Amino acid sequence: MARRLTRRRNVFFPTVNPFAQSPDYTTREIEPDLSLLLPGNAAGMGLDELRLLFKRLDEAPYRASQAFEGIYRHRWDDWDRFTNLPKSLRIRLASAVQIKWPEIERTLTSSDGSSKHTLKLADGYSIECVYMPYENRATLCISTQAGCAMACAFCATGAMGLKRNLTSAEIAGQAMALITFHLGARTDAAPINIVFMGMGEPLHNFGNVMGAFAVLSHPKGLAIPPRRVTISTAGLAPGIKRLGECNPRPRLALSLNATTNEARSKIMPVNSTWGLEALSQALRSFPLESGERITLEYALIEGISDGLEDAKRLSKFAGQFPSKINLIPYNACPGAGLPEMSPPSDARINEIGAYLANRGHIVSVRRSRGSDIGGACGQLAFK
Ligand code: SF4
Repeated sequence: MARRLTRRRNVFFPTVNPFAQSPDYTTREIEPDLSLLLPGNAAGMGLDELRLLFKRLDEAPYRASQAFEGIYRHRWDDWDRFTNLPKSLRIRLASAVQIKWPEIERTLTSSDGSSKHTLKLADGYSIECVYMPYENRATLCISTQAGCAMACAFCATGAMGLKRNLTSAEIAGQAMALITFHLGARTDAAPINIVFMGMGEPLHNFGNVMGAFAVLSHPKGLAIPPRRVTISTAGLAPGIKRLGECNPRPRLALSLNATTNEARSKIMPVNSTWGLEALSQALRSFPLESGERITLEYALIEGISDGLEDAKRLSKFAGQFPSKINLIPYNACPGAGLPEMSPPSDARINEIGAYLANRGHIVSVRRSRGSDIGGACGQLAFK
């Protein structure tokens, strides 16, 4: 029987993989047990967890805030560098807990300036994340699972199946590694956007993704504003509801990609569980801040999602709530995709874009970056 690893903070428990038997896109998970944290790794710990650590060391809670600031704002990974803590405490910490982030194993740089990085995890799995520099900002595309259970037909990660959830440390660690690699100490050189859009379905690993979001957005940490962080989901309706109940929370994007249940179920099996009606209801009920919009990502696949009727249905779907539409010409993925899948012509892409814009939608065509290094949308996979 296939097995997967479910995380309970720093401890992994093998459990039966429900996806090996029948599709079950549950967002059920084990709540973290703080008593299991020590001894361990302070990388990825939130303030509550650091407070527990310092309590166990009989230290005042404000020491936890100082440690948090050192770990995330200054990105120190050696207790000896924590000059905001007394020397005697640094020595005790060094013997109790390490600060170990996932390490970059390989970097590929695209002709468009973006880079794909492979990170080696402690148990041997590798994950990928992408750094995309722009004129006045940088975007980090972060993975949330090793592999993915959603099995979207256009995606190399989906073809691998789910290996395991990433821990908060492994998720936040990708951002820490990319920022250190590309920006060094210059974290305020340009605004940073984070998209949980790499390998995995973020809402299928809800607790750990939100744990990473908490440390990355915390004012004493990397202080990345929540509005600059986006979770992209294949459509786990209960997870969308759960996200809407969080405050603060990242922005929401739905990977829509088709406008009928028949077409969508063909390329995204999750649609058989939560179809377009369930998604529409979840998005209409999603509480938005003033000016906030839900992003609809729509892969243009010739003959599958690029017809004028598709555009009409897309317009109708998007008109039900404040939204913006990203049209993404399909990226061919070795080892994934149906044989008939290919991107439409530029003329077709422009036609659909113009149709939607003329109906008052905010629409952009997202030419995926990093396609020459396998770093574009849908191309991330183990090598
Ligand atoms: S597109 Fe996203 S949700 Fe779908 S299989 Fe790939 S990683 Fe998973």
